[in-house]
Amino acid sequence: MLFRKKKPVIDRKTPQEGDASKIDETNAILASLADPILVLDSERVVKYANQAAMDLFGRVLVGRNIVQCIRQPHVVDAVEQVFQTQETWVGDASFPAPVERHLTLHVALIAEGEGVSITVRDTTLEKRTEEMHSDFVANVSHELRSPLSALVGFIETLQGAAQNDPDARERFLGIMIQEANRMARLIDDLLSLSRVQIQEHVVPDDSVDVGLVLQNVTDILALKANDRQMELILNYEAKDCMVAGDSDQMTQVFQNLLDNAIKYGKPATPVEITTRYVDRLPHQNVPGVLVEIRDHGDGIDEEHLPRLTERFYRVDKARSRTLGGTGLGLAIVKHIIARHRGRLNIESKTGEGSTFSVLLPIKL
Ligand code: ADP
Repeated sequence: MLFRKKKPVIDRKTPQEGDASKIDETNAILASLADPILVLDSERVVKYANQAAMDLFGRVLVGRNIVQCIRQPHVVDAVEQVFQTQETWVGDASFPAPVERHLTLHVALIAEGEGVSITVRDTTLEKRTEEMHSDFVANVSHELRSPLSALVGFIETLQGAAQNDPDARERFLGIMIQEANRMARLIDDLLSLSRVQIQEHVVPDDSVDVGLVLQNVTDILALKANDRQMELILNYEAKDCMVAGDSDQMTQVFQNLLDNAIKYGKPATPVEITTRYVDRLPHQNVPGVLVEIRDHGDGIDEEHLPRLTERFYRVDKARSRTLGGTGLGLAIVKHIIARHRGRLNIESKTGEGSTFSVLLPIKL
C-alpha cells in the first residue's frame, strides 16, 4: 500500500461550448477500457462506472455510495484519505466470493474537491502463479530433503554403530544407492520438465513415426513387464502415422505412460497399446493419431483424475515411492503433449484399470 503525491488530472474550469461532446468522448474511452474504472463525486457516490467495473462489482453502481459498492473498509478509508490528502493511493484488496480474486486498486484525485477515480487491475493470475511457484519450490525441497536425510542418517550409522558390522554395511549401502538414485531421478525429471515448459510455445517441426516410437518403447520396457509377468500387446491400426513431433519427447511420453501401466497394472495382466487414425481431432479441425494405453490395474478414483497431471500429485505417495516414482511423469507428459498441440485423456474405473489416451495431430 502506498501514497504518492499527484497533481489532479483535470483542472476545474467553467463549462464551455463543446464540453458535452468532450464528456461523451471521455465516457466512450473509459467504456472501452478492459480494466474496471469507477469515478466518484465529492459525496463519495459513483457517478461513472465502465462495463468492466460493473462486471466486477455488480450491475448497479452508479448512484450508490462507495461503501455499498466495495465492501472493504480499508479501501473505503483509502478513498477518504485521498479526498483529504489529495495523494494517490495504490493498494491491494481480496474478494473471496464467488471466486477468490486479488485486485490492485489505484485511487486518485481527479480535481480538487471534484471526485476521485478508482482503477482496478486484476492480479489474481499473478498471485496464483506466485503461489504455485513457491509451492513448487517447497515441494522440490521436501522431495529432495527426505532421501538426503536418509543418506546422512546411514552415513552417520556407518561411521558409528555399524562401523564393524559388514552385514549392516552391505544392507545400508544398498539402501543408500536407492536413495541416491531417487534424488538423481528427481533431478532428471525436474530438468526435463523445465526444458519442456520453456519450449512449450514452439511447435516441433520434425516428423515422428508414432508406430516406430511405440515399438522402441515397448522393446525398452519388455524386460520390466516380464518381471511382473505382464505382456505388452501392441496393435497398430495406424502403423505409418507421422506426427509433427520431437522424437525424444514422444519417446518420453509413451515411456512414462507405459511405465506407469506396468507399475500400476496387476501382475500377470496384459497392457494393450492401440493406435488408430482419426479423421478429425475433437479439439482441432485436422486429422490425427489416437494412441491408447490400457492397463488392468486397480484403477484410479474419479476424484483424483483432474489432478493427476499436477506436479508431485500422487494418489498413493508411499506406493509411488516404493515403485521408484517421482510424481512428475504425468506432468512431463501433459506439457509435451501441449507442445505438440495434442490432448491427453484419462479414463479409469476403480478395480478395472485405466486407459491413457493421447491424441496428436498428423504431420500434413
Ligand atoms: P509417479 O512417478 O508417482 O508414477 P506420475 O506423474 O507418473 O508419477 O503419476 C502420478 C500418479 O498418478 C501416480 O503416483 C499414481 O498414483 C497415478 N497413476 C499414474 N498412472 C497410473 C495408472 N496407470 N494406474 C493407476 N494410477 C496411475
